[in-house]
Amino acid sequence: MKAVVITFPSREVRVLDVPEPRLHSPTEVKVRTLEVGVCGTDQDILKGHHGAAPKDEDHLILGHECLGEVVEVGAHVQGLRPGDLVVPRVRRPCPHTRCPACRHGQPDFCVTGDYTERGIQGAHGFCAEFFVEDAAYLHRAEDGLRDVAVLTEPLTIAEKGLREVAHIQSRLPWKVTPGKALVLGAGPVAQLGAMALMRAGYETTLYSRSPKPNVKADASEAMGAPYISSKEVTVEALKQRLGGVDLIYEATGTSKVAFDSLQVLEENGVLIFTGVPGREEPLELQGNEVLGQLVLGNRVMFGTVNAADSDFSAALEDLARFRARWPGQLEKLITQRHPPSEFAKVVEEKGGIKHVITFQGHGR
Ligand code: BGC
Repeated sequence: MKAVVITFPSREVRVLDVPEPRLHSPTEVKVRTLEVGVCGTDQDILKGHHGAAPKDEDHLILGHECLGEVVEVGAHVQGLRPGDLVVPRVRRPCPHTRCPACRHGQPDFCVTGDYTERGIQGAHGFCAEFFVEDAAYLHRAEDGLRDVAVLTEPLTIAEKGLREVAHIQSRLPWKVTPGKALVLGAGPVAQLGAMALMRAGYETTLYSRSPKPNVKADASEAMGAPYISSKEVTVEALKQRLGGVDLIYEATGTSKVAFDSLQVLEENGVLIFTGVPGREEPLELQGNEVLGQLVLGNRVMFGTVNAADSDFSAALEDLARFRARWPGQLEKLITQRHPPSEFAKVVEEKGGIKHVITFQGHGR
């Protein structure tokens, strides 16, 4: 079968002919890949900042944001049958008995760093005609989500983040109702995050670099979230305009923007970091100011990565809700679909919002 791989150590992306995977256990499922989303993590892997091949192999099959269709199920698999649409989770547990996260089925909180991530870290991904996965890591997507379920995985980042916010804010001695939220960035994680925030009841604004008009601003405003360009409005002016926010969802991975935004955060507010930083210039931080803002205002900053079983289920439910609330909006986030041979080109060219590799009509 055809697979999009990156070679190690040369880091070249190629379409290779590799053996088609087969079921090895009665709990496994064979899946035909329909679509794979391309994201900043893929870019980091290509640049050599992230990613590793499976042990003793010289290449990694790329792709971690995936929608597929079940073609075969092992004898013990329940609740899935051929023809069902499925979305796989990304991370698999580390082997260590001392890791409470992995031993409790939540490798998204792994403490050893020895987890694997399909398509990223030490385990082949989904950008191939077929893949085999244990049923425990697959989530059924309803047929009506066929055109948008490839967005499930990037949405899980927000689902986990918001779940964590709920835990954190349960510290307050009153029932917290969603107030104002600011999303930093306007890429897919930011746009999907904004949808999740709005659906949770937050009055949401996106703050991103490019001045209007641009497709990201159009997408944001089409769902009713104002878009403000950081090139036109400084963080100080933003604070004047918004009057402070209760939640900040950082999805740029740019540390300067992330820490500057603390000025806009209200007392008791929460700042969620989701963007993995690139190799930018080191940031000079006004440490005392940051510390003062945190301590004297009971503010919380936390980072979040990957997502759990429940976040995938929540994301699939939310996609259906988003569709009902903003018809056509999720489709608009998918800028273009490309054949597998264009993976590297897609990673390099950054126009639009989400680019997707499609295997429909591009398999054998
Ligand atoms: C993925 C996560 C993964 C992270 C770090 C992100 O792009 O969505 O599942 O944990 O990269 O590798």
